[in-house]
Amino acid sequence: MKSIILSVMLIIGCAAYAQKFTLIELPYATDALEPVISKQTMELHHGKHLQGYVNNLNNLIKGTKYENMELIDIVKQSDGALFNNAGQTLNHNLYFTQFSPSAKTTPDGKLAKAIKDQWGSFENFKTEFNKAGTSVFGSGWVWLASDNNGNLFIIQEPNGDNPVTSNLNPLMGIDVWEHAYYLDYQNKRADHLKAVWDIIDWNTVSERYK
Ligand code: MN
Repeated sequence: MKSIILSVMLIIGCAAYAQKFTLIELPYATDALEPVISKQTMELHHGKHLQGYVNNLNNLIKGTKYENMELIDIVKQSDGALFNNAGQTLNHNLYFTQFSPSAKTTPDGKLAKAIKDQWGSFENFKTEFNKAGTSVFGSGWVWLASDNNGNLFIIQEPNGDNPVTSNLNPLMGIDVWEHAYYLDYQNKRADHLKAVWDIIDWNTVSERYK
C-alpha cells in the first residue's frame, strides 16, 4: 500500500514539475570532439550553460501566452529575458547537433554549389566566416543562414539573437561567447574558429538547407 501511495505521489509530482523544454541530448560523447572542444568545455557548456537557459525558459513561459508555442515562435515573438533564454536554447540546440567526431568536413551537392556561387570557393567562405566570427564584439554568434530563395548569408548576431528573427533559416552557428572556447583557447577566439571546421558535420548542415 505504501509503495502504491509513493508511486501515485511520484506521478503527481512529475506531472506538476513537467517541463515543456528539455535539455537536448548530445549525439556524441562529451570527450568525442577533443581536441577542438574539450570534455570540460562540453560538460559546462551543455550541462550547465544550456541547462540554465532551458530552466529559465521553462520558468518564464509558465502561465503566459508562450506556454504552448513552438520554440522558434517564442524566439520570433518574445523580448527581454524570455527572448534571451529562448534564443539561447534554440541557438545551442542547433549548435550541439551540427558537430560530429567523424564529420564530413566539406559540403557537397546543392549547398556546396551555393557556397561557391556566393563566395567563390569553400576556402574563401571559411575565411569570410572566420573574419565575421572574430569581429563579433562581446558575446554573440556567427551564422551561415539562407533565405527562402536559397541565397546564403554570413550573419553576426549579438547575445542570444538568431537569424530566424530576420526571417532567415539558420544552417550553422558558431558560438563566440567566451564560455564556448575560453578554457581551451583562452583569449584566442580566432584559433578556436580555425579549429572548429574539423568537427562541422556538413551532412547535418546540408539537411537544414533543404
Ligand atoms: Mn554558449
